[in-house]
Amino acid sequence: MLFNFLTIFPEMISESLNFGIIGQAIKHKTILCSVQNLREFAMDKHRSVDDKPFGGNDGMLMKPEVLGKALEDKRHTKILFPSPQGKLLTQAKAKDLSAAGEITFLCGRYAGIDERVLGHYNIEEISIGDYVVSGGEWPSLIIMDAVARHIPGVLGNQVSVGADSFSSSILESPAYTRPQVWNGLKVPEIIVGGDHAKIKNFNEWMSLLITLKKRPELLGHLDPNSNLGKKWQNKAKLKEFYNQLTIEDRKSCALDNMESLLNDV
Ligand code: SAH
Repeated sequence: MLFNFLTIFPEMISESLNFGIIGQAIKHKTILCSVQNLREFAMDKHRSVDDKPFGGNDGMLMKPEVLGKALEDKRHTKILFPSPQGKLLTQAKAKDLSAAGEITFLCGRYAGIDERVLGHYNIEEISIGDYVVSGGEWPSLIIMDAVARHIPGVLGNQVSVGADSFSSSILESPAYTRPQVWNGLKVPEIIVGGDHAKIKNFNEWMSLLITLKKRPELLGHLDPNSNLGKKWQNKAKLKEFYNQLTIEDRKSCALDNMESLLNDV
């Protein structure tokens, strides 16, 4: 899969692509990235890409002619404009986009871009959250990273994106590494026991509890026919699972004092 970035700060993108999972995926050519400086498409000697907005609003806007020149040979690709006005990025959206083949990110700066460009090039706006940052470079990198994790080979063989939070629409269960006892807090017995069926069952209940505690609104998105969805509907079993956790386990999982939350579900 190919990701193109159109930006006035190419180093911000290219320098960020050298690290971790994404850096490895580029090295192994599992994904390809191209970064182009929007100033190459400027038409005056100062290579300006921005102009004053009509109507006396504050700030500057990226010029449609410059963006148009940059986008013309990207028409065959899926063009995304990271923008606080777009739909919020979700794990499901990232997965859908991983089938796009080629994505072009138009990184906004200043007060944004001339609105006409969006419709003319059939551009989709995507937001990384309900707040405003100063440019589309970091949002583009975030979207690219979230999409790339769904491309086979990017995460390597050992790790699967299916275990991540949100893949089943709720949060991943708590995880632990050595030492088995840290500051008096023990890793739950079942997790270290080696019985994989038991661990899977334990982690599913834990996912439900941790989501109930941290992001309860996500539980409404569970598919009622999935394994987790069925477990979530079985409130009596959920309470029973919580009640049979030792006080120690509840502490290690940051799930103490959930009785009243569980009584309300
Ligand atoms: N005046 C604009 C914001 C401009 S911020 C408005 O209110 O809509 C400059 C650029 O940063 C934007 O064009 C966009 O590309 C990027 N950006 C800012 N916040 C973002 C967000 N939450 N998600 C994605 N991109 C964002």
